[in-house]
Amino acid sequence: MAKVATMEDLFLDEIRDLYDAEKQLTKALPKMAKAASSEELRTALENHLEETENQVERLEQIFEMLEQKGTGKKCAAMAGLIKEGDEVAKSTEDTAVRDAGLIAAAQKVEHYEISGYGSARTHAQLLGHQEVVSLLEETLKEEKQADRILNDLAESSVNEEAGSQSGKSHGAKNGRSGAKTRSAGSSSSRE
Ligand code: FE
Ligand code: ZN
Ligand code: FE
Ligand code: FE
Repeated sequence: MAKVATMEDLFLDEIRDLYDAEKQLTKALPKMAKAASSEELRTALENHLEETENQVERLEQIFEMLEQKGTGKKCAAMAGLIKEGDEVAKSTEDTAVRDAGLIAAAQKVEHYEISGYGSARTHAQLLGHQEVVSLLEETLKEEKQADRILNDLAESSVNEEAGSQSGKSHGAKNGRSGAKTRSAGSSSSRE
C-alpha cells in the first residue's frame, strides 16, 4: 500500500475513495430504484443517479486539475452500505416497508458522501486548490439535497403507508410507530 505522508497524499486518497464510491453507486442506484415500490422513491433514486454520473465526471475533472491519473481506490465503506441496502431489498416484500428500508439505506449512503466531500473540501481549501474546492462544493450541495429529498419522503406518504403495515399485535401502537419512523427520518442533518 502506498504511503500517505503528506496532506497532499491524504487528499488524493480521499478523492480516489470518492471516485470509487460514486462509481459503485452508478451501478447500485438503478437496482435500488428498481426495487422501490413507490413511484416517488423510484423517481428520486433515478434523479440522483443522473447527478451521480455528473459527480463522477467532476471527480475526473479534479484528477485533471491535479495532473493525476484518474484511478479509484476501493471504498470499502460504500461497498458495505450498498450491501446493506441490497439486504433490505432482498429481505422485504415489494411494499412500503421495503421503501422505508430503502430510504434509510440510501440516507446512510448520502451521509457517508456528505462527510467524505466535506472533509475533502476542507482539505482542498487547506492545500489551496481553489477550483477543486468549487467542484467539491457543487457535489456536496447535491448530496445534501438528495438527503433532504429522501428525508421528505421518509416523513411523508411512503412511511405513513409503512406505518399502517405494522403487525396486527401492535395495532394500538400503529400511530406511534408511524411517528417513530418519522422522527428517525427527521434526525438526519439539515442545513
Ligand atoms: Fe454522490
Ligand atoms: Zn468512500
Ligand atoms: Fe471509503
Ligand atoms: Fe449521493
